[in-house]
Amino acid sequence: MTLSILYRGDLSSCNYDCPYCPFAKRKDSNATLTTDAQQVTRFVDYIKQHPHIQFKVFFTPWGEGLIRHYYQQAMVALSHCDHVEKVAIQTNLSCRLHWLQKANKEKIALWSTYHPGQVSREAFLDKCRQLDELGVSYSVGIVGFKETIAEIETMRTLLPPEKYVWVNALKKQADYYNEEERQRLIAVDPYVPYNMVHHESKGKACRTGDTVISVDGHGNIYRCHFIKEKLGNLYQHELTTLLQPRLCTNNTCGCHIGYVHMNDLGLYEVYKGKELERIVS
Ligand code: SF4
Ligand code: SF4
Repeated sequence: MTLSILYRGDLSSCNYDCPYCPFAKRKDSNATLTTDAQQVTRFVDYIKQHPHIQFKVFFTPWGEGLIRHYYQQAMVALSHCDHVEKVAIQTNLSCRLHWLQKANKEKIALWSTYHPGQVSREAFLDKCRQLDELGVSYSVGIVGFKETIAEIETMRTLLPPEKYVWVNALKKQADYYNEEERQRLIAVDPYVPYNMVHHESKGKACRTGDTVISVDGHGNIYRCHFIKEKLGNLYQHELTTLLQPRLCTNNTCGCHIGYVHMNDLGLYEVYKGKELERIVS
């Protein structure tokens, strides 16, 4: 059995200023960053000390982690653990990339989001080219605001054809997209219809709490990022005693990092082991 852990520590800050984001240009205090670094170190040590479990690790920070040296170090260290199958992180790709040279490229992957307005198209593409030269796997994704669709299409044409580009759909407002906009987004990302709805999930089987868990900086374990019922603590309890197949207790699930684990959707067959970093190959 492989256990996927979605890790989110105390960090909640970012160097970008996306107008819709609560972490935009938010700064953490030195004390918070010190605590976050200690938490990440403790988590990495835990993984290293449990070689009898196969892990996939996915850092999903509030804000941007990879501009912090300690996230880079954690990724590199985990990529070299025999019992870690994959280490991935959500990032805006603004950091320098030389540190990746030290990583095991077979195991490291980046969920990279392009934020038009925060970085030039050319600068982002240059980072993608660097990742290609380094041999590092990554996905490219963009938030699907209506006014961004043309830019999304342009980015699609400029990236290698085999590179999957995902779109995060806006769905707070019903019928946000007209049919033409919907089709244009599907032409870029054939799987965006999965992201255009809040999946009815209550009472349905979901791998979270069984082969996927969410862990915070204190080691508290939740089944996923969206259900705040604590299952235990990584540093206090025997992990295997906490895990079991479960049904979802939320009404709906609308984020890739959640619904991708719903059994009924069959998305593990689409992503073929790359569901965390959201790569279709
Ligand atoms: S890059 Fe991500 S975390 Fe940073 S401000 Fe933009 S949306 Fe928020
Ligand atoms: S379906 Fe979504 S909300 Fe429900 S348990 Fe799974 S990840 Fe959590």
